[in-house]
Amino acid sequence: MSSTSISSCFNKVVREHYIRLPQGDKCQVTYIWIDGTGEGLRNKTRTLDTEPKSIQDIPEWNFDGSSTYQSEGSNSDMYLVPVSMFKDPFTLDPNKLVLCEVFKYNRLPAGTNHRVSCKKVMDQVKEHQIWFGIEQEYTLMGNDGRPFGWPKNGFPAPQGPYYCGVGADKAIGRDIVECHYKACLYAGIKIFGTNAEVLPSQWEFQVGPCEGIEICDQLWVARFLLHRICEDFGVIATLDPKPMTGNWNSSGAHTNVSTKKMREEGGLQYIEQAIEKLSKKHMEHIKVYDAHDGQDNVKRLIGHLETSNLNEFSAGIANRDASIRIPRHVGQQKKGYFEDRRPAANCDPYLVTKAIASTCLLNDDDEVKDN
Ligand code: ADP
Ligand code: MN
Ligand code: MN
Ligand code: MN
Repeated sequence: MSSTSISSCFNKVVREHYIRLPQGDKCQVTYIWIDGTGEGLRNKTRTLDTEPKSIQDIPEWNFDGSSTYQSEGSNSDMYLVPVSMFKDPFTLDPNKLVLCEVFKYNRLPAGTNHRVSCKKVMDQVKEHQIWFGIEQEYTLMGNDGRPFGWPKNGFPAPQGPYYCGVGADKAIGRDIVECHYKACLYAGIKIFGTNAEVLPSQWEFQVGPCEGIEICDQLWVARFLLHRICEDFGVIATLDPKPMTGNWNSSGAHTNVSTKKMREEGGLQYIEQAIEKLSKKHMEHIKVYDAHDGQDNVKRLIGHLETSNLNEFSAGIANRDASIRIPRHVGQQKKGYFEDRRPAANCDPYLVTKAIASTCLLNDDDEVKDN
């Protein structure tokens, strides 16, 4: 099969022995950060003398930015500033995973650190209690560059039986999905659910709802867990928005949004107001809705295969071919949330949620520009 990486063939029972060894009072902390590509994640681990009780107990650290596409070799030390702490599902309690922001030698945010500007907007709109839930679609790939389990020469049967499917001929790679779900719960990720997707070997998990910046921190760590678990199984999870050309579905990061007013009785009018504002900034949003300034969505948002047309804004109740969908139950109850279907699977949630919050909730004149 197209599966095995060299290190996934190690005997994992041997690993179990060492993982269970007592570690005294010491605590392993794995620092995680976004690298210079804006898509890749990096991590490294250090020992603390005691278990950190909160994020304040975790010291800043640094790394060599010239090896992560983040700086020149001549001035390469970058700062890692811890922002969010989780339990480590790989080395287990009391060890931690900690998501970090990256700053340059001069203490300015690194080029791909969009958390700083996102946080500014979220602080400005705090009174609205904006919640987000993100649906992360991804595709499992073998080491041959083809989706995991696809025939070497040729294609699986056309799309149709795979979405939410069960059975060896329909659901490919479920072990990874189930391990990721448990790992998320153990770590403290607010995982909402999961399902098999339309393309064979494509899956989805959802995170949220979370208020403000928390959704982004959680999604990045949930992505880290996914990549790390796939490493154990010798397959690769790709967030490529269009992993296979042709009549095969793409991968999105549908972003569900509500404010306090939208969630209250009669909230539908505020949802409609937000959609009206979004309609006026369609292209500005498209530019930050994938990892390549809108270029990935040129391939993905083609007006069919459950996507909208890149060049026009549209909205509708229960409409999966629209830019914005109002779920049917929200239309019926006249309150709840809306779904922005445009973000691609490889988007940076800091940029996506920042754009949505500022378009829907800030006046044009107090808008915060990106650094
Ligand atoms: P779909 O029908 O589009 O596939 P899913 O069931 O996959 O929807 O995902 C629903 C998403 O909506 C989840 O991420 C969940 O966290 C989010 N969500 C639920 N309620 C709210 C809310 N009030 N505000 C924002 N997001 C919400
Ligand atoms: Mn979904
Ligand atoms: Mn989906
Ligand atoms: Mn959706």
